[in-house]
Amino acid sequence: MILKPDDGCTLNPAGLPLSPTARPPVVLPAPVALLPRLSRLLSILSCLLPMLPMLAGCGQGNEQQLLALRGATMGTTYSVQVLEPPAALDRNALAKRIKTRLADINGLMSTYQPSSELSRFNASSATDWFLVSPELVAVVKAARAVSDASAGAFDITVGPLVNLWGFGPTLSADVLPNAGEIQAARARVGWRQLDVQLQPPALRKARPDLYVDLSAIAKGYAVDQLATLVEAFGIENYLVEIGGELRGRGLNGRGEPWRIAIERPETSKRAMFRVVALHDMGMATSGDYRNFFEVDGEQYSHTIDPATGEPVDHRLASVTVLAAETMQADAWATALLVLGPERGFALAEQLGLAAFFIEHAEGAPDGEPFITQATAAFNTLSAAALN
Ligand code: ADP
Ligand code: MG
Repeated sequence: MILKPDDGCTLNPAGLPLSPTARPPVVLPAPVALLPRLSRLLSILSCLLPMLPMLAGCGQGNEQQLLALRGATMGTTYSVQVLEPPAALDRNALAKRIKTRLADINGLMSTYQPSSELSRFNASSATDWFLVSPELVAVVKAARAVSDASAGAFDITVGPLVNLWGFGPTLSADVLPNAGEIQAARARVGWRQLDVQLQPPALRKARPDLYVDLSAIAKGYAVDQLATLVEAFGIENYLVEIGGELRGRGLNGRGEPWRIAIERPETSKRAMFRVVALHDMGMATSGDYRNFFEVDGEQYSHTIDPATGEPVDHRLASVTVLAAETMQADAWATALLVLGPERGFALAEQLGLAAFFIEHAEGAPDGEPFITQATAAFNTLSAAALN
């Protein structure tokens, strides 16, 4: 069965609840479909500009066909959208395989599931090799490479600090941690205290209480895995998304790619900073606007600077990264957010990363509340398929 957009062009065929932050689609300037992870400050629109005839023709026949599967995973939502699915596609089989694949990845990498492979590694106090799956090793290895290249700004052993600040599975924050608690948690953090071995696949802690948190990279990894799965079904034109991390491939009948709009963070007026053509590429955004808590009017981000042991506190509103692998984009978006607008941007340019920074610009003479900066690689990649 092929699902077509209804008149409102909203789809939830998996029958699962949409994210509480999901908002109804808006028209801007052509019909667009909103991704679920929207927020007060920045939202990304999945602009289905290539599908104008279909959307314009909702309910009128003669449409391009769009199959959309949605559900919940990793504490957020996922969506898989397929344009012009192959005629022989078994939609139910695809939906089932997507769910199973996500459940499998969670069973390896979740810190919210006590029985996951990662949770068992975290719970173990052994300091010798701990056998794990090749998949978990691959993600930890990729994370270590980003730690290396970012001088530890990205650090998957930051879990004790994440938990201390109330963003992990164990604690919730009503009071701020004191200096002693931060110092004690910092002693347990350090990506060099985690060893990875490929054959046989295994992880090793240098100290018994090391705790690994893959939240900043696992969603990107899962997006890449779903893309591979979708392609195995013979699908060529798709957009996969988990919690706002994306991967798009393919063109519509007129040779146009998926377009993703990076929207201005205000809620009052809708305008876009940039439209990205997402063809065979991953995209991820980290920002100060989605997951934070507030004490005495002060906001505390869920992204921790391992160098201070505290939530990042600078004027970056968000960083969006494009990369061949969504996993890389995901990890680098967090790394650059930690490094901030100057050091982060300089490193992104130096490494040739495709990154787009949105900064708060309080007190700007023209009243413009945001400054944006794009690396050279971002300008090239984002525009490559637009024309
Ligand atoms: P965002 O989309 O804002 O990057 P993610 O969910 O991708 O959000 O990543 C944030 C999560 O990553 C945090 O909740 C925490 O578990 C973990 N984290 C926080 N700081 C770091 C860091 N410096 N390096 C790696 N992971 C981090
Ligand atoms: Mg991330």
